[in-house]
Amino acid sequence: MNPESIHSVSVTVLGSGTCVPLPDRYPSSYFIRPSVVPGGWLVDIGPGALKRLAQAGGSYKEIDSVFVSHIHPDHIGSLLFFLEALNYTPDFSRSKPLFIYGSKEVEEYLQLNLELTLPLRPDFPLDFIVLRDKMVVNQEGWTLKVRELKHSTTTLGFRWDVEGCILVYGADTEPCVGISELAEGADLLILESSFAQDNPTPGHLTTFQAGKIAKESSAKKLLLSHLYPEVAEMTERERESEVRASGYKGEIIFAEDLMRLDVFPGREKK
Ligand SMILES: [Zn+2]
Ligand SMILES: [Zn+2]
Repeated sequence: MNPESIHSVSVTVLGSGTCVPLPDRYPSSYFIRPSVVPGGWLVDIGPGALKRLAQAGGSYKEIDSVFVSHIHPDHIGSLLFFLEALNYTPDFSRSKPLFIYGSKEVEEYLQLNLELTLPLRPDFPLDFIVLRDKMVVNQEGWTLKVRELKHSTTTLGFRWDVEGCILVYGADTEPCVGISELAEGADLLILESSFAQDNPTPGHLTTFQAGKIAKESSAKKLLLSHLYPEVAEMTERERESEVRASGYKGEIIFAEDLMRLDVFPGREKK
């Protein structure tokens, strides 16, 4: 195939951390740019996401859609700030619609906050798409599959088929059928890796459990993120060996803020 004709999807980690403040990791957020989506997507929008987006060379003014996995502040904390920025940036007036995808809870969170903070009510069209378990969303150039995950509040995982690439985001979850189904054959599987192998915790994944999901689903590449300090502070070798103990043979990458991956159909280039 002519390399010029191959499209790729760029994925930039805006936040590889959790609710625990760390000097070099903001909470969860990812900037995904398929060529069919001018402006790109934000996937979760935790505190610090917009600063990191600026550092990554993205523009908050151009973001097309935001996908929110759940209402925990480390995943949604910058959503209101984002709307404020779109409304009050001097000499800027957004006209194109903004699409926000999330559960009924995310919609309620947004509605309550918009009522409390009337000036945030956007002047541009804001389109909220309520997602439910097993839903499939077909848009021009891409498809989204949704599964409910197993976490301490309603949490949705996402699987996009775009540019011939399968991208999967597992948000916060413990091992469950939903994430296993979404992950099947992923070109890039983004999973949390909150805790060490010897510290399994309800609602979350350890290094080992994330590796096991990747192995069983034959994911080609595993991006491990949402690192609590106990994993963030391990050496690369220690944490990779915990993931490898699962038998996963694909590529393993531990996320850092501002890390960028270019995902190609069936293969990826770092
Ligand atoms: Zn979280
Ligand atoms: Zn959470």
